[in-house]
Amino acid sequence: MAPAREASEEGTLTEIDLDPKFTDEDFTIKAPIPDGTEVNVEDVPRVEHVSYQWIQGKVVRVVEAAIKALRDGHHGYTPAVGILALREAVASDLHKRFKVAVSPDSVMIFAGGKPTMFMSILMFGEPGADILYPDPGFPIYRSMIEFTGARPVPIPIREENNFAFSADETLSLITPQTRLIIVNSPANPTGGVTPKREVDKLIAGLEAYPDVAIMSDEIYDHMLYDGERHVCLLQYRSIRDRLIILNGWSKTYAMTGWRMGYAIWPGKLYDYARKLAVNLHSCVNAATQYAGLAALTGPQDEVAKMVAEFDKRRKVVVEGLNRLPGMSCATPKGAFYAFPNIKRTGWKAKPLASALLEDSGVALIGGPDFGVLGEGYVRVSYANSTANIVRALDRIGEFLANRKAA
Ligand code: PLP
Repeated sequence: MAPAREASEEGTLTEIDLDPKFTDEDFTIKAPIPDGTEVNVEDVPRVEHVSYQWIQGKVVRVVEAAIKALRDGHHGYTPAVGILALREAVASDLHKRFKVAVSPDSVMIFAGGKPTMFMSILMFGEPGADILYPDPGFPIYRSMIEFTGARPVPIPIREENNFAFSADETLSLITPQTRLIIVNSPANPTGGVTPKREVDKLIAGLEAYPDVAIMSDEIYDHMLYDGERHVCLLQYRSIRDRLIILNGWSKTYAMTGWRMGYAIWPGKLYDYARKLAVNLHSCVNAATQYAGLAALTGPQDEVAKMVAEFDKRRKVVVEGLNRLPGMSCATPKGAFYAFPNIKRTGWKAKPLASALLEDSGVALIGGPDFGVLGEGYVRVSYANSTANIVRALDRIGEFLANRKAA
């Protein structure tokens, strides 16, 4: 496995090289459309989104909505910000779930969650500016910050804090140069969920810094366990005029390849984002937007089923990892990742991930690919069948029993 390009290279975009041996086929789910009857998950070699099986009904409806949209003639440009019906559906979904008032005129439809990240970091990043981001965290944050020439300032996400961010620590990192703070809960790669009291504290503290913008990545907002409830930052009025929300369809509806996401922009940033969209992509594929509308406005029971299934797999993963020699795994409260501590195995995280892939065919990602504080951990995705998860755990166990740390 070729090493990931170092995140510290200035002016470059980091690429995490999951495995160059994968082909497009490996990431393709052959969907049995239109009857939606059979998908053999075991046949899907390495797909992070095998949650697909749980939402087959949804997938069929979504595909049919896209086909209908094309047949109905929706194959021209749409407004750059997305079709009104979809923006209204997003606003109404947020109102239903979090009791927040969101105008459809603050919603912008994008090709996935990443464009919100890209644009907000581009808006605030420049040499001389500081941007705070979670570490370990989604690697694109740091990569984009460096791309703009801004200084990436890691917000430490610690195991001893259940992988939640600490409000005090975050506030203590703010300087006169700080332009933007990125937060992510539930989080990739740790599965950490930051409790409401900590979010309350952060928001109260931010009132002293009215010029600092916040980008809240809430893409896993449906995936919480053990009775945890998502804290949507739109609920905090004091920051609404500088809050950007990132969300989308990739996780909740397992619609990764459709490239569907949305941002909620505060008034003054909306027009900058719209201009970037016009210059960049004109609009998201029209039929895809109708598919997103079908996902969002149709029955939501498949989402709940999928999350319930993730919950079961989460328990299998955590118990299994905690039985392995030298590994200990905190119970993640959200997303579909576990972030076990591997320090007592004697292995460094990236060599361990590479050796497991090469020798045992188990795909994990080394913690350092998610930030400087990721050493000593690996990320395990449990968006895969329970049978595959059990098989992977067995293989990791065998590997650790037979191989000396490199
Ligand atoms: N934010 C986080 C925390 C993620 O984990 C991901 C995808 O893994 C994204 C954003 C990007 O989502 P999308 O595939 O919709 O661009």
